[in-house]
Amino acid sequence: MPELYFDERRPAMSPAARLAGAHYPVAVIGGGQAGLSVSHCLRERGIEHIVVEAHRAGHEWRARRWDSFCLVTPNWQCRLPGYPYQGDDPDGFMVRDEIVRYLEEYVAFSRPPLAEGVTVTGLRRASRGVFELTTDHGEFTADQVVVATGPYHTPAVPRMAERLPAPVAQVHSSGYRSPDRLPPGAVLVVGSGQSGCQIAEDLHLAGRQVHLAVGGAPRVARFYRGRDCVAWLDDMGHYARTIDAFDDAGAVRMRVNHYVTGRDGGRDIDLRAFARDGMRLYGRLTGIDGGRLEFADDLKANLDHADAVAEGIKDAVDAHIAAHGITAPEEPRYVPVWEPSGPPPALDLTAAGITSVVWSTGFRRDHRWIEVPAFDGRGYPMHWRGVSSVPGLYFLGLPWQYSWGSGRFEAVGRDAEFLAGHIDASRRLADVCGTLTGAPAELAAALPIG
Ligand SMILES: Cc1cc2nc3c(=O)[nH]c(=O)nc-3n(C[C@H](O)[C@H](O)[C@H](O)COP(=O)(O)OP(=O)(O)OC[C@H]3O[C@@H](n4cnc5c(N)ncnc54)[C@H](O)[C@@H]3O)c2cc1C
Repeated sequence: MPELYFDERRPAMSPAARLAGAHYPVAVIGGGQAGLSVSHCLRERGIEHIVVEAHRAGHEWRARRWDSFCLVTPNWQCRLPGYPYQGDDPDGFMVRDEIVRYLEEYVAFSRPPLAEGVTVTGLRRASRGVFELTTDHGEFTADQVVVATGPYHTPAVPRMAERLPAPVAQVHSSGYRSPDRLPPGAVLVVGSGQSGCQIAEDLHLAGRQVHLAVGGAPRVARFYRGRDCVAWLDDMGHYARTIDAFDDAGAVRMRVNHYVTGRDGGRDIDLRAFARDGMRLYGRLTGIDGGRLEFADDLKANLDHADAVAEGIKDAVDAHIAAHGITAPEEPRYVPVWEPSGPPPALDLTAAGITSVVWSTGFRRDHRWIEVPAFDGRGYPMHWRGVSSVPGLYFLGLPWQYSWGSGRFEAVGRDAEFLAGHIDASRRLADVCGTLTGAPAELAAALPIG
């Protein structure tokens, strides 16, 4: 493997000294699993680059996950380039600190040229085609840039949060840590995607009275007919489907994740069972008027929809088993253990003893610092497989960038490998033609080494 380390070419210096006024063939922005993956792939091709990370590598997993957090995807799906999951529990689910350790081991293994503690605040394209990057440690330039800053930037909290009475503590799911870090009393969790459901369970298991505003997220069973549903779906080719196979790519990319958990070896999240055991469920939160909260009349529809999706996935597994003559144990289908009744209740915060609200309402993208015309009318990057409409500018780690696993551990490595090939081809072609043309990856091997 060629030794083209930044550290070896440019001796150890502070991030500021490394960057200010420097020029790199490639700049990778973000040192999460996506940035680290493409760095490894670039290094394997001998392409000098730098990875600029605002905090520490793996920051999101360290700083924005709660204490009991664990993967919902099985460990065997963690397959970063050159470094697949190394542990002895491939069917298990790493907890937060194990995920952080996995990424630390990956850094030790692939030794990326990291400049940590440096935030890129501006990205422009100069007239001569070179990218100019402004950071809080000075400016530098690069021929090509990979934006690997993650899919989840700014916590999205609805403006109605401002109407909550002052004594009620509020936290976004990315800031939630553990039940004992919230003030004593009942807790309202708003949102029932993966984060909302898992946080509601975390609080419920700790004995807190939980009120949960349930939205339209679907769910999936953890296990069915003897295996993890993820394993069945993998066999069925679900994760190999690429975005090109869908007519409505934009809608697919906006899909909400199915809720399920990997906690304690993995299990379903059954909100009806939580309700039976004392959790209070409501429909979507629609209004806050002083200490009084109002909800849509959609709790039954939302629970029914989540169950229908889970049962539909089981139907597909049954069909797969039958079509391939697979021997698998029979399993009874889910029977709802609780039903909502009556009109949607209003909720009086004081009467219910609610002292905190956890907003599990997702994130917004923030690419405003990228001052390059590479976005569509909704602010979504215009790209195919991460190759943007601007030659030399790439995105990595977007949900459904190319397949289901693009924004996850499962396929970020495959996307990184593809981009590294593209970057390689473009750089070689630039050497021949004198300009970045956005050369297809297949050309790389045929072109002279630049
Ligand atoms: C609650 C939750 C649960 C998840 N569970 C799973 C799961 O079970 N399995 C799975 O495979 N995936 C899961 N994911 C999805 C995905 O794996 C993570 O979001 C993962 O963190 C994405 O990695 P990334 O490298 O693309 O982005 P990130 O991890 O977000 O990394 C981006 C990095 O870029 C840095 N950065 C951002 N802006 C700048 C800038 N301007 N300058 C310099 N640095 C910058 C950040 O500090 C950060 O370190 C989950 C996500 C969430 C939010």
